[in-house]
This record gives sequence, structure tokens and C-alpha cells, in this order.
Amino acid sequence: MSTAPAPRAGWDSGRVDLSSLRLRPGPVDLASHPTSGSPWFDGDKAAGKEALATVAAELSDLQERLVATGRSHGAGAPSVLLVLQGMDTSGKGGTVRKVFGLLDPQGVRVASFGAPTPDELTHDFLWRVAPRLPGPGQVGVFDRSHYEDVLVARVRSLAPPEEIERRYGAINDFEAGVRAGGTRLVKVLLHISPDEQRSRLLARLDDPAKHWKFSPADIDDRALWADYQRAYEVALERTHREDAPWYVVPAGSKWYRNLVVAQLLRDELRALDLSWPSASFDPDEQRRRLTEQDPLA
Ligand code: AMP
Ligand code: MG
Repeated sequence: MSTAPAPRAGWDSGRVDLSSLRLRPGPVDLASHPTSGSPWFDGDKAAGKEALATVAAELSDLQERLVATGRSHGAGAPSVLLVLQGMDTSGKGGTVRKVFGLLDPQGVRVASFGAPTPDELTHDFLWRVAPRLPGPGQVGVFDRSHYEDVLVARVRSLAPPEEIERRYGAINDFEAGVRAGGTRLVKVLLHISPDEQRSRLLARLDDPAKHWKFSPADIDDRALWADYQRAYEVALERTHREDAPWYVVPAGSKWYRNLVVAQLLRDELRALDLSWPSASFDPDEQRRRLTEQDPLA
């Protein structure tokens, strides 16, 4: 793990400085990004949980505005999509539970992507993704995503090299279309170290209640750690865009990871700048009707 660069001027101690976790354009060296600790947050775990509670309250208000906008504007309403990627045990599932669990489930769309089915394999790799995007007024999260098709697919040679090569551009075009359709997009790599993964895998083996999360294939993937890191570096470098950015989030501390992702979502919702939809009726008239009416009469 490398040391993080010095905080920017104007660093706000009540929140994580997300701009420091945002990928910079250019070559990516994941070894230079921290995997643990709580960089850019000036506080301990208790302070982090307090900060999360503050973010959660605002998230809830903002998401209700989004749901309301979806109801009133229909297909014209915006949406937000968070793409979550990371090695096994990096905390994708925990992030979905802890952060998206703060939201009104009616406005949330969760999609997990496992190995493609035989039917899915007969189509282009993006074929199964498009139908799982968030609808108007929804906040969506992808637990793994179309990025697996340039990660595991590259590491395990599941497609010819020229097809893998084609996919980076196809992903950028696809994501540009998603943005053009009114969806704000943010992509997160939950970054952990191989040591952290070992202890998390051991914890899964030690606890029968966690066996369902374990797969013997996780150990095969772990053996290819360096190849996966390289595949991530290429994918991040080639798909980082101003309006579809990557964030590399140190995921060794769960409270910190949750705070960062909640803040990211909050910022995306803030950027939609949503007001409450105006009423399609006259409240004074409805109030008068309600006062004058006696349903038991
Ligand atoms: P998990 O997220 O631990 O339930 O595991 C899902 C598994 O599906 C992982 O091993 C992924 O690498 C695999 N997977 C997801 N998407 C793809 C894909 N497009 N091609 C091949 N394997 C995939
Ligand atoms: Mg797994």
C-alpha cells in the first residue's frame, strides 16, 4: 500500500474528500492506491458512523425527490447507476446491503451479474445488461457488471483477444448512451489487498453461516491476483470518463467504504438538482372539498 498524497486545500473534515479517490486520467497503477485505512477522512470509526447518519438523512430526502419525479415525469425522469466491482470478498454485497438499505426499496433496482447462462452466451456481452438498468426515477446498483467481460474474460481467455479489445470501446459507447438517456453513472472499484482477502476468505470458511458466500473457485481466482489487478488497470484506464468516472475506494474498513459510497450516491443525487414536482391540483380547492365533505352523512 502506498501513502496517499497530501490533502487538498479546503479539505472538509466532516466528509471524505471524494476528489482524492477519483481516478485521474492516464495510466493506472493500482499498487499506488491505498487498500485500507480511512484516507481523506479526519476521524475514527465512531466519527465515520456519525457522518454516515448525516449522509443517510440527506440521501433519503434526495431519493424521495427522485421517486416523486419518476412518478410525475414518467420516462422523462432521470436515474442514477452505481457500478460496483471488486475482487471476491471486497464487500460488494455488504455495500449493497448497508448503503442501498438506507433507501426506499421501491426506488432501488439491484442487479447482480454472475457467469453468463448458455442463452446469454449466444448474444453480445451487453445484451443481458441493458434490461437491468435503473428505470426513470430509480437508483440502480450493479453488483459486478459488464466489466466482468473485460476482467474475468481477459484473465481466463473467455473470448479471443481481439474481441476483448473491442469491448472497451463498446463499453464506452454503451455508457455514453446510458448517460444520454438521463442516467448519471458512477463506477467504483472496492480495492482490497491479497492479505485482507485471505483473512476474509478464512472467516467465511470458519463460519457455517458464511459458507454460502464461499466458492472453491474464489481460491483459483485468487491465484491469478496479479493478472486481475492488471486487467482492472487496463479497464479503468480505458473506460474512465468525465461523466462516467471511476473511483478507487480503499475497502479494508467497512465503515469507511460505506461512508464513501453513500457520499458518492448523495453527490450524484444532489447533482440532479431535483425540486418537488408541482401539484396537478389546487391544494386550496382540495382542502375545501375535504372540509366540506362528511363521508358518514
Ligand atoms: P459472486 O459475485 O461471488 O457471486 O460470483 C459471480 C461469479 O460470476 C464470479 O466468479 C464472476 O467472475 C463470474 N462472472 C460474472 N460475470 C461474468 C462474465 N461476464 N463472464 C464470466 N464470468 C462472470
Ligand atoms: Mg465469489
